[in-house]
Amino acid sequence: MGMDLQELYRDLHTHPELSFQEVRTAGIVAGHLEQLGLTVHRGIGKTGVVGVLENGAGPVVMVRADMDGLPVKEATGLDYASAEVGIDPEGNEVPVMHACGHDVHVSCLLGAVESLSSARQEWRGTLIAVFQPAEEWGGGAEAMVNDGLYGLVPKPDVVLGQHVAPFPAGWLGLRGGVAMASADSLTITLHGRGGHGSRPETTVDPVLMAAAATVRLQGIVSRELAASDSAVVTVGQIHSGTKNNIIPETATLGLSVRSFDDATRDKVLGSIERVVRGEAAASGAPREPEFSYEDHFPLTFNDEAAAGRVTAAFQAKFGAGHIIDPGPVSGSEDVGALAKGAGAPLVFWFLGGADPALFQEWATTGRLPEDIPSNHSPHFAPVIEPTLTHGTEALVTAAREFLATN
Ligand code: ZN
Ligand code: ZN
Repeated sequence: MGMDLQELYRDLHTHPELSFQEVRTAGIVAGHLEQLGLTVHRGIGKTGVVGVLENGAGPVVMVRADMDGLPVKEATGLDYASAEVGIDPEGNEVPVMHACGHDVHVSCLLGAVESLSSARQEWRGTLIAVFQPAEEWGGGAEAMVNDGLYGLVPKPDVVLGQHVAPFPAGWLGLRGGVAMASADSLTITLHGRGGHGSRPETTVDPVLMAAAATVRLQGIVSRELAASDSAVVTVGQIHSGTKNNIIPETATLGLSVRSFDDATRDKVLGSIERVVRGEAAASGAPREPEFSYEDHFPLTFNDEAAAGRVTAAFQAKFGAGHIIDPGPVSGSEDVGALAKGAGAPLVFWFLGGADPALFQEWATTGRLPEDIPSNHSPHFAPVIEPTLTHGTEALVTAAREFLATN
């Protein structure tokens, strides 16, 4: 019956939308959920959609997909490639692409809802399908919780979700405990005193201050953390100046920080402030630097017991050889906000989406072929099948593990 998942996926891929602007996608999702007989709530956390399928007394299982695309110009050359443009928060026109595979997530979750809906004589409980906005900003899940999600739907006993990744389709990656890093994005403004490039003695040079701070920041991970702890401190942007013979007034640094536990996060963020203040003082800065904290993604932590149940269910369904432990991943996710808001355990796994044929080289040489594009690449292009079928079955298998069996 029903949905043609491949056609749905191609349509979503051709028409991606930026974070908190997923209006068309949300409309398509809500339409399908209504057709499948679910109670549908729209506009939660701006563009979020939730479908509830009540099917007798039993556990409440929440399954989540994210809907947003990215400001990336698609370069896959696929016949269903996106040519869409959108307006970013600064008002700029930007290209838009499903470069992170959230179109896969939406398609698989709709497929899973259809499957569970048509098999509802086999299970008891309540299924809640969450389609969240703005995962790429780290704020979509929290926006839904803050907008009253758990006043509209019952709090779940478990939250489940998946992310497509560039390993072979047909494989799943799952682990208990820390699954993905927390991420913090911050902008630092350094204040100097501007003047003529020929008379540095009359100025305080913020370019030198920014350069010294950037170098010194790399000492935090290498010199202040124990070998058993890990973090990433990336200075992704440095901006200062307008002309070669002008010493500017200010410089800004844009940082991305990743860590795998809260104590390390607190230590690294504290060290960043200390180092930057120290460099400003060393330069004789006329004003203290300013720290502006922007996106924050929480740690993605899989409940050990619940993840163990899902792993066993996956092994039984797909074969133990197709389930891998990916280790803690340095990427970040906001799905944890849904679990935290409900006080529920989380299980989040990775879904292989790359053409298995591309991994022949891996099998023979032990090296990943470098031509497999990763998420956020303009060339990111999951194979449609077996990815969609496998992702749908993974969601159904995990949900059925927690729903009661009739
Ligand atoms: Zn992404
Ligand atoms: Zn993503």
